[in-house]
Amino acid sequence: MKFAQTGTAPEQLFQEMTELQKNDANWRDGKLFSLVYYMDDKLRDVLLRAHEMFFYANGLSPTAFPSLRRFETEVLQMVAELFHGETAVGSMTTGGSESVLMAVKTARDFSLAKNPTLFADGRRPHVVLPTTAHPAFAKAADYFGLEQSWIEVGADFRVNVAAMEAAINERTILLVGSATNYPHGTMDPIEDIAALAQRRGLLCHVDACLGGFCLPFLEKAGRPIPKWDFRLPGVTSISADLHKYGYSARGASTVLYRDRALRRHQFFSYPNYPGGLYGSPTMTGSRAGGPIAAAWAAMKYLGRDGYERAATQAMATADRFRAAIEATPGLRVLGDPLVPSLSFTSDSIDILQVCDAMHERGWEVQRQQRPPSAHLLITPNHAGQVEAFVQDLRAVTKSLEGTGPADSGAAAMYGMLGATPDRGAVKDFILDFLDGLDAV
Ligand SMILES: *Cc1c(COP(=O)(O)O)cnc(C)c1O
Repeated sequence: MKFAQTGTAPEQLFQEMTELQKNDANWRDGKLFSLVYYMDDKLRDVLLRAHEMFFYANGLSPTAFPSLRRFETEVLQMVAELFHGETAVGSMTTGGSESVLMAVKTARDFSLAKNPTLFADGRRPHVVLPTTAHPAFAKAADYFGLEQSWIEVGADFRVNVAAMEAAINERTILLVGSATNYPHGTMDPIEDIAALAQRRGLLCHVDACLGGFCLPFLEKAGRPIPKWDFRLPGVTSISADLHKYGYSARGASTVLYRDRALRRHQFFSYPNYPGGLYGSPTMTGSRAGGPIAAAWAAMKYLGRDGYERAATQAMATADRFRAAIEATPGLRVLGDPLVPSLSFTSDSIDILQVCDAMHERGWEVQRQQRPPSAHLLITPNHAGQVEAFVQDLRAVTKSLEGTGPADSGAAAMYGMLGATPDRGAVKDFILDFLDGLDAV
């Protein structure tokens, strides 16, 4: 593509974009089970209007746009209250990954302030976390120079806390648990992890990026949800995404700390810039106003009642999917998902071939590994699709009975990549893939 000398008329531009959009995933019909968290058009209109009003506003300056500062402060106050953090403070970020990056960086700098020799003798501060924790934690370790111990989960897809304890060494700074993890929707034994952290004088981050805006409302609605938030004295920080089950505009998440003293280690300041005294709370410099305003609008518009309705409706739909999958011979759900995010596998057929065959029928089910499984991320938008999905799933499962593993297609490729012991080669494969995305 050459950068044209002259501009293009808007009608022509939008025609071209409309054409391109036709190839994108169609999430509206409830056949895509990831990426988009849609509630309804009424909320969408509120989000769009709030986003548009603050489209040009920049949260980089706390003085130029006091409106944004107010929105961010109030969003964080509402979230702190939701998570029972009486002294909790935090920041809004652009997403779960940035929230996790910030929590890990904060843990590093807080611990370094206490123990300046953590990086001495070429060694690194150390984090202990479940294998089901989000890759953002691996990214954080990569970016911030930390060592990690990834601890296996049990048959219930919750981390083994005794194995976490055994992995702690003199450089350990942080224990992590997910409430809940994304692949299976299961919750780690947060109470035990937090107690262990407290006993050993460590920080404890709870990643509630997925569950943060479901679990409190499902608990309120009477579901048995173990405690996972600031009610547990050992929990020192929590991440929760507004742009997932917070149903807000993409580009909005929160990270909260038990108190101000901890959060201070998240901030960055640089006093010598000719452009002025520079301070920045999170990874980004300029901060888009739209997602901050839209998040505030979503929380105010929905209220606790709106979130409770959405969470119970999505969970009721997930229960229907789960019951139908469990009633299908050859299929089983992994663990006990506490939020509307579940995985299933098979002991008799190749589950990755089930994903391929469902794809042929227009269903975008995510392929997972370790173990190979299929993933469904469920929102209120999927309520009308349960029967049609299950009908296709049963047909596909039946047609695969007695067949072996795939020797071609996506299932064969994912199966091979999941199982190959040379993880370095798989790492390179992923980098080659990213590198090739812009190749013409
Ligand atoms: C989605 C998710 C993240 C990362 O969030 P992004 O917004 O995709 O960066 C982190 N942790 C969990 C548990 C998640 O589900």
